Amino acid sequence: MSKKKRIVIALGGNALGNTLPEQMAAVKTTAKAIVDLIEEGCEVVVAHGNGPQVGMINNAMIALTHEDAAQPNTPLSVCVAMSQAYIGYDLQNALREELLNRGISDMPVATMITQVRVDEKDPAFQTPSKPIGKFMTAGQAEEVSQKYDYIMKEDAGRGYRRVVASPKPAEIIEIGTIRTMVDAGNLVIACGGGGIPVIRQGNHLKGASAVIDKDFASCLLAKELEADSLIILTAVEKVAVNFGRENEKWLDRLSVAEAGQYVKEGHFAPGSMLPKVQAAMEFASSGEGRTAIITLLEKSREAIQGKTGTVFHA
Ligand code: ADP
Ligand code: MG
Repeated sequence: MSKKKRIVIALGGNALGNTLPEQMAAVKTTAKAIVDLIEEGCEVVVAHGNGPQVGMINNAMIALTHEDAAQPNTPLSVCVAMSQAYIGYDLQNALREELLNRGISDMPVATMITQVRVDEKDPAFQTPSKPIGKFMTAGQAEEVSQKYDYIMKEDAGRGYRRVVASPKPAEIIEIGTIRTMVDAGNLVIACGGGGIPVIRQGNHLKGASAVIDKDFASCLLAKELEADSLIILTAVEKVAVNFGRENEKWLDRLSVAEAGQYVKEGHFAPGSMLPKVQAAMEFASSGEGRTAIITLLEKSREAIQGKTGTVFHA
């Protein structure tokens, strides 16, 4: 029997929706796309983002402090942990149902609460850049920055938002457990929201006020699990150069060197397509025969058959 192809899937915002009911509906489509890959004979590991969810939880926990003066503010690392559990719950449930609907009854589904170590000297801590949560007026922004030590930034004329650091993932703390579960044939959801950011202090892991990019965390997970492929599922079928312009060109296959040249030329938007391309390049160059694919959620089956998506190779 030939060894199954091991793939790590990174799910983006459109795989999960923006609200509780949206997520409940979105995970059904997402589960179909994932089980399609299992039917194609792949061994699948799932990672995902948490932008809207962590913002929503953070806002809810702030509202709690207004309601009850005895409640201190909730650290961002705890908000990420809550988002992992909540998203994992919906995904686990939808995947279980989809597997059973297709007659696959021997594949347990589990979410691993995952901590990801970051380096406290990561320069990202000096320049917080990732906006989270709701928009505020200048007055409200001033109030929360005084009260909670938040860094508030004006966001493209739309108001003020909290910005947090987005450091690079250095180590997946629970990687041993994740590997054991995957090797045993479980369908595992891990590194949700990029992982709970922690800093090592001797034997203690201290939650960090940050949100790790899920594309980079998924890349690290794929490398650690010695996956054959990293598949980043997002809202576009392919990556383009001159995106949104008249001379836009959709890319089918590209080498890490070609991708690097396009990065230099500024074809990929920071905060959206750029981290995906960087993660894809890093994974494709991390080992013999490894590839990364960026494609649309609904096209995952066709992409693994080599029919669509943008494929990155060494
Ligand atoms: P996710 O939530 O899946 O992480 P993002 O919205 O962060 O997705 O990033 C995907 C988006 O990046 C696409 O929907 C597209 O609008 C945008 N984008 C920016 N530059 C490019 C590019 N060069 N090619 C394709 N899409 C691009
Ligand atoms: Mg994104």
